[in-house]
Amino acid sequence: MLDQYTLLIAIGIAAAGLMLTLLVTWIGARRDSYLLSWGAGLGLIVLSVLVYGAFSTPYVPALQFVAFELLISGSALVHVGAVQFRTGRIGIVGPVLLWVGTTLPLALAFATGYSGVGTMMLNLGCALYFSLAGYEFWRGRAEAPLAMWTQSLLYWLTGASFLPCAAVLLLDGKLVLGERPSNWAEDLNSLVIIVALAGIGALALAINQQRITNAERRRASTDSLTGLLNRRALFGTVPTEALPEGLAVLMFDLDHFKTINDSFGHGVGDQVLRQFASILDDSLRAGDQAARIGGEEFCVVLQPLSRDDARLVAERVRARLAGLPALSAGFGPPTVSAGLAVVESAGETFETLLARADAALYAAKQAGRNCVRGGDTDLAA
Ligand code: GH3
Ligand code: MG
Ligand code: MG
Repeated sequence: MLDQYTLLIAIGIAAAGLMLTLLVTWIGARRDSYLLSWGAGLGLIVLSVLVYGAFSTPYVPALQFVAFELLISGSALVHVGAVQFRTGRIGIVGPVLLWVGTTLPLALAFATGYSGVGTMMLNLGCALYFSLAGYEFWRGRAEAPLAMWTQSLLYWLTGASFLPCAAVLLLDGKLVLGERPSNWAEDLNSLVIIVALAGIGALALAINQQRITNAERRRASTDSLTGLLNRRALFGTVPTEALPEGLAVLMFDLDHFKTINDSFGHGVGDQVLRQFASILDDSLRAGDQAARIGGEEFCVVLQPLSRDDARLVAERVRARLAGLPALSAGFGPPTVSAGLAVVESAGETFETLLARADAALYAAKQAGRNCVRGGDTDLAA
């Protein structure tokens, strides 16, 4: 019912269109090299379609072999692009071994005259590559859940559609071909590829855009020196009024930080800031949030807990910093002062809570630094 040539032309045009789109997108964003891998992979697939379409009668196994090598190598590059997309890296050994493992049986089959077996190998190889690519998107699905899920599904569908092609040849006992295989499985395979190419192309661009948006959002809410949240991001996440009882704020300010900079240089100062941020990061539960809100000032929001526990968190952070090696024999380790404020009755606003934590921090500085103050109503008063 379906004319194989028409299907081939449709695949060729769809793949060429997608290849161009990906390459043009890559030119505008050279660092996203997975776009280049996908574009190059599709380029090989387009070449394969051209070679495959160039012979019909008489049947030329050598040309079919060339077309298949191009197709499987293109599929391999699509898979490499999927790995690059998820991990940001490009392996050499793994992909090369996989490529040899999929193309060698194909070459051996054609070299010994078993063009039917070679065709089955091609179908199994493509099924493998598209399934693996789908698996990569599934693993990275957190980035854009719905789009990535759909992307995986389209890849798996494409991979699965190669299997009946191999099965039909096997069941028909066609170990050697006298013509290009033409059966319902081949037609179905072509149709799935045409639909998948259109979907994959649109989704690849949508996911790429989502990735750019995610990265920008992360950059806008992150302090570049420490990797913690910045002031705006932290204050944006806290409800401005009616805080729940037990929610706590810790304000930290490194002690004599100006002297550290002046005595040891700005680089050492930066290093201390990063060390302190990492201590904060390690000391918090999931749900608690830490931010660098100024030069050497940090603010932590603790999800509701008892006053004693909140004080314990602050004390642990303070002690861990003071436990670092001395900056020099005469200077001692870096230290920090902390002010704590806990919501005593539900409904307090973040603004007044912050003011109480600030006052407690001031009290800690007055008390000689390297200590925690606050967390009790007496002091707050
Ligand atoms: P105190 O114990 O009273 O808090 O004294 P202090 O010296 O820490 O306080 P002060 O506010 O006078 O000094 C803060 C210093 O932090 C001044 C500024 O140069 C330094 N600073 C601010 N941002 C950075 C930064 O990103 N890196 C470094 N290395 N220093 C910074
Ligand atoms: Mg300060
Ligand atoms: Mg300070």
